[in-house]
Amino acid sequence: MDLYEYQGRDLFDRHGLPVLAGGVATTPEEARAIAERLGGRVVVKAQVKVGGRGKAGGVKLADNPEESVARATDILGMDIKGHTVHKVMITVTADIEEEYYFSYLLDRANRTFLCIASVAGGMEIEQVAEEAPDKVAKVAIDANVGVDEAKAREIVAQAGFPADVADQVADIAVKLWKTFVSEDATLVEVNPLAKVKGGQVLCLDAKVTFDANADFRHPEHEELVDQASIDPLEQRAKEKDLNYVKLDGEVGIIGNGAGLVMSTLDVVAYAGEAVGGVKPANFLDIGGGASAAVMANGLEIVLSDPSVKSVFVNVFGGITACDEVANGIVQALALLDQRGEKVTKPLVVRLDGNNAEAGRAILDGAANPLVERVDTMDGAAKRAAELAAAGV
Ligand code: GDP
Ligand code: MN
Repeated sequence: MDLYEYQGRDLFDRHGLPVLAGGVATTPEEARAIAERLGGRVVVKAQVKVGGRGKAGGVKLADNPEESVARATDILGMDIKGHTVHKVMITVTADIEEEYYFSYLLDRANRTFLCIASVAGGMEIEQVAEEAPDKVAKVAIDANVGVDEAKAREIVAQAGFPADVADQVADIAVKLWKTFVSEDATLVEVNPLAKVKGGQVLCLDAKVTFDANADFRHPEHEELVDQASIDPLEQRAKEKDLNYVKLDGEVGIIGNGAGLVMSTLDVVAYAGEAVGGVKPANFLDIGGGASAAVMANGLEIVLSDPSVKSVFVNVFGGITACDEVANGIVQALALLDQRGEKVTKPLVVRLDGNNAEAGRAILDGAANPLVERVDTMDGAAKRAAELAAAGV
């Protein structure tokens, strides 16, 4: 889960990192109240889970509470890279003298943690890395040792932080590491880490991603979930333990195994091009050993998406034989009828692998007029795309 900046700021604050006082507002009037409480000049910042807000006009200075109302009015409702702004953070203004970059992340490729630090911060680090790679320090961190004082000094030296901020940056490096580890994050990023007038170093932006695999250790993270942004179908799928991701097309996809489902998305997208551009409506992996109940749950989720016009069930029988899956499909359709969720959208089913012939015979025997059997993956994708295009 990614945090909003204001949530990251609060988290940093709780871990003793230097941040500016601030608050979060959903209306211009709330923005005014916070600006009045803070006093003086403030910054109004769009809260969206995407970078480059500054460049997109989502970070504005305001000289007084009146102006903060105007800036909040400008920014609330703004679209930044496809994300609508529903909240703004109001903070005290910093007089920035220098902008640095500092982050810890999980380095999957090298099976370690990595610190990326640069004295050329503010802008996107990818851009710095491209234009001035020598200005980006990458320091591997041994998970068993972590970032102690000595490691922090090594990072500071390697990134070339100026002597006047070295102590502060080293202290931040240690605290940020503790934050990273104790919160089970896969990313903590501060850009800019800024030196302000008077010489203090502050975290002026906060990007935090939590490791979902560690959610069970952090019941307190639950309340950071933005309920409004959760797709209702994804929520229902999660409650049913299904691996479902909503996409924006018209062909519902159900398959067994993540790899198969991903390649199904590709072939459907390809086939969709030929019939006016229909696309996959979702990713849904029902896993191995899919019972009728699991198939019914999967079908129910996919079919209840109003943009779905056809469904492609793509199964490669492995441990679970195709005859079991075919029985599952037949029973699932009956089960949905019983639940009062009568299926009206066409299904294309492709069965291959273990006991495919027996599975196909079961589908043929059931002779459900909504179910079409196509035995090749490409052929089935093409048929599902055609049916979706016809139904749009
Ligand atoms: P991002 O563009 O989404 O990464 O948003 P940031 O929070 O990093 O803000 C973008 C830029 O706005 C920063 O790099 C700063 O240059 C500027 N900025 C942010 N906060 C302040 C502030 O308190 N004072 C001043 N003067 N500039 C700020
Ligand atoms: Mn930033």
